[in-house]
Amino acid sequence: MSAQLTLPERVGDVWLNGALERGTAAQLNVLSHSLHYGTAVFEGLRIYAGHPFLALRHFQRLHASARALGYDLPHSPETLTEALQQLIARNGLTDGYVRAIAWLGDEALGLMAEGLTTHVAIAAWPWPQVHRTASVFGGIAVWQSDRRRPSAETLPPQAKAAGSYLIGALAYQEARRRGFDDALLCDSGGHLAESTSANLFFVKDGRLCTPRPQGFLNGLTRQTVQVLARDLGLQCREDQFHPDELVSASEAFLTGTAVEILPITRIGTHNLLPGPVTERLIAAYAEIVRRPGADPLCTAPEFERA
Ligand code: PMP
Repeated sequence: MSAQLTLPERVGDVWLNGALERGTAAQLNVLSHSLHYGTAVFEGLRIYAGHPFLALRHFQRLHASARALGYDLPHSPETLTEALQQLIARNGLTDGYVRAIAWLGDEALGLMAEGLTTHVAIAAWPWPQVHRTASVFGGIAVWQSDRRRPSAETLPPQAKAAGSYLIGALAYQEARRRGFDDALLCDSGGHLAESTSANLFFVKDGRLCTPRPQGFLNGLTRQTVQVLARDLGLQCREDQFHPDELVSASEAFLTGTAVEILPITRIGTHNLLPGPVTERLIAAYAEIVRRPGADPLCTAPEFERA
């Protein structure tokens, strides 16, 4: 497939407001409310061997994100899950990435956003690798950004709202300009939070640790990894951590639908190697995502809090 083709040309069909149409025909008006104010909400999913992982939970989160921004979606999570199955079949996908997005229409442009139509689209296409260097070096280098996640009083942290991604986009671009693959951000209180689009875990004194998701997204992969860790007999400490604590970490990795479990091999000037905890979790994750219909989050564990 030619690199010259645009994404809409490459994706095949797209599900838009209840019907399948060509990706190139699935358009929105330039006066759409969400384009101006960042009020779109979206989801990224992965398809493994023809089956989307945690599809219903992703579409439930899409609904919750829209509600957090003050609007309701016209299609239930179950309907959207069926729509995705239809799209996977239509586009003949085995392994791929899915982007679902909902947005407010173009009837008016006021901030109040009253009486606007709500639109939903789902696109899915083959997309195996996220980070450029990951397959070459087995991990990525991250830069500690000065940008912070906003407090829960400023933006609803569990909403995957398009507007929130401006922070990650700026931090990511800064990291790349400095020669890193991604950036880590702190929360508004200066504690470790997550990367630009994935959650953070690290191993310290032999123990798995992850920041408590108070001011950032509690990712579905993060929750899956916590279940897998429990099932492997690994204790997971969920707490507030100062960024300096990462310097003494023996392993670190990111988790997210797109990056899956991605080892971090450098934090600033501190080098790390993927270790046994990361490797065991990568193996367990690779197995669960390929089990059709698996929902490890049915059995969410009780976490030890310090
Ligand atoms: N944090 C942010 C900011 C993200 O964009 C994502 C990706 N959705 C995550 C964390 C990880 O979430 P998930 O595991 O649900 O993909």
